[in-house]
Amino acid sequence: MTNRIGLFKKSWILGVAILLLQGCGSTKTLVSAEKASIIAKIDLINVVDDKVNVVLDPAAFATDTVSFFIPKTVPGTYSDDNYGKYIEQFKAIDYKGGELKVEKLDDNTWRIINAKDLDKINYWVNDTYDTEVEVSEPVFSPSGTNILKGKNFMLNLHGFVGYFDGLEEIPYSLEISAPDGLEPVTSLVKGIQDVNRPDTDVFVANRYFEVIDNPIMYSSPSTETFQVNDIAVTLSVYSPNGHFTAASLKAGMEKMMRGQKAFLGDINSTKHYTIILYLSNMDDEDAKGFGALEHHTSTVVVMPEQISKERLEEAIFDTVAHEFFHIVTPLTIHSNEIQYFDFNDPKMSMHLWMYEGTTEYFANLFQIQQGLISEEDFYQRLMEKVERSKTYDDSMSFTVMSKNILEEPYKKNYANVYEKGALINMALDIDLRELSGGEKGVLWLMKELSKKYGDSKPFEDDGLIDEIVAMTYPEIGEFFNVHVIGDTPIDYDAYWKKVGLSTTEQEQSTGYFFDGEIPYIDVDPANDNAIFVREGIQLNSFFNDLGAQGGDIIKSVDGKMTNLVNIRLLIGQSMNWDPDKEIVMVVQRGYKEITLKGKVGVPTLKVVNLVPIEGPSEQQKNLREAWLKG
Ligand SMILES: [Zn+2]
Repeated sequence: MTNRIGLFKKSWILGVAILLLQGCGSTKTLVSAEKASIIAKIDLINVVDDKVNVVLDPAAFATDTVSFFIPKTVPGTYSDDNYGKYIEQFKAIDYKGGELKVEKLDDNTWRIINAKDLDKINYWVNDTYDTEVEVSEPVFSPSGTNILKGKNFMLNLHGFVGYFDGLEEIPYSLEISAPDGLEPVTSLVKGIQDVNRPDTDVFVANRYFEVIDNPIMYSSPSTETFQVNDIAVTLSVYSPNGHFTAASLKAGMEKMMRGQKAFLGDINSTKHYTIILYLSNMDDEDAKGFGALEHHTSTVVVMPEQISKERLEEAIFDTVAHEFFHIVTPLTIHSNEIQYFDFNDPKMSMHLWMYEGTTEYFANLFQIQQGLISEEDFYQRLMEKVERSKTYDDSMSFTVMSKNILEEPYKKNYANVYEKGALINMALDIDLRELSGGEKGVLWLMKELSKKYGDSKPFEDDGLIDEIVAMTYPEIGEFFNVHVIGDTPIDYDAYWKKVGLSTTEQEQSTGYFFDGEIPYIDVDPANDNAIFVREGIQLNSFFNDLGAQGGDIIKSVDGKMTNLVNIRLLIGQSMNWDPDKEIVMVVQRGYKEITLKGKVGVPTLKVVNLVPIEGPSEQQKNLREAWLKG
């Protein structure tokens, strides 16, 4: 997945403020549950109180009890989300239409008693998008669900369809009835349509994993298709106010994906790919977790609708590039932990440095190698990653963090997989190029690994690094031991030197509360709209000189209570502040209230630039060339 922390996380809120067919009934006792497919019926027509009815019809069980699960977590999210919390009025129905006894074991598990009599189960599903503001750790929108009667249904199917214990590997037939005018977009394979039920779409999946690996969006379609070599790409856009269409985004998307395919070369890839883009209108009941989640043949991307085309394109191209590269890892190259993913008791792999790190690194590297961005842009992206990585624990073993990512303190360092994770790969790439005389890099390594492992051939989690070392050089083993398994921070300056680059510091002018359109402060809807200083970003001199820290809640400024209205006024007034103006800001840090005082000064932001050195050696020039040109 990608989480657009740097660009959008929460920051937007303030930004907007300002600116298969199987019979049922009597014959079914002849077919055992292990042998027949499960029919899942989803009714998108008769939405009641913002909820959707789901009926699951398995064949006959031979056991006295059976457990039914909705996933606690799904691949690619690396978080416990308990999708079972959104299920209501769960009923197990016997063949005579009566109700069987059900025990609820936890948020995601229902045990059905007298399972031999079970005909079907029936429940109602609530969506996650309209509860995001109410819960402290909302489901990340690209893996969430949306029920907007008559307009949009985001069917991340793990939120709607569950599985019976032991039946994860049997096929599913999904029968989805939808209102007129709403069309499905998905990579899921269509089944045989019942001519008597024209409003019901039938989809088939070989196993439960395939159900959840193929989200479906129902909306009034804005869809375009294009071909990238042998891949047929479908781009579908839901834009509630009609600001964007698939047609308006197609050309840029096509250009980017062509670049990706050229970068990957002969690496195995899918024959079709679906990009499902959901644009949120940002009201209380809409999605706010911007980013995307990867699947084998599709991705769901969620972004705000109220942004300029230029900014949306920049965000979606980077995001889709990242998700598409996930085809390499973890979708192709992955460990047992991911192959045999337990949706309710997941075991984490130690290789997020690769699943997310390599993916994010490639999403940037291909752009310089394919001439889509300038060297200057590429260096700036790297320095932003260096700066942001320092806002996390730089002395935390990446493999230990990965293995324990569902728990603190590892969990709060997760987003560093996009920052330091990418930089680990950059260092590895430069080392590999240096040791191989420019021949081999991380892309070569991934191609070699993809020849050994694949879709249904996982690697052993604790053997991968030894295997990489055996394929490459002892120095690579040293790098992993010290900087990936070990907890020693990477000396980036040493890597810049190898490729003839160096850093220069510069003070750049900025606003008091905004750097361009990116705010230093934000609003927390989950905490009574408290105004806080953003975390995980570099603050300007105004906040630094006052002694403010990321996460501080601004209680008052110059004696005036801070709220959304007052902060807008203050931001307006700050445009005319005299540098000698004295300011008193009371902030809450943890349980303490702290008074910060000082002159507002002239706000500046320290920017570290990465630039080529004068007169690089032949070796430095050649290594940089090999790195950037591939
Ligand atoms: Zn990702």
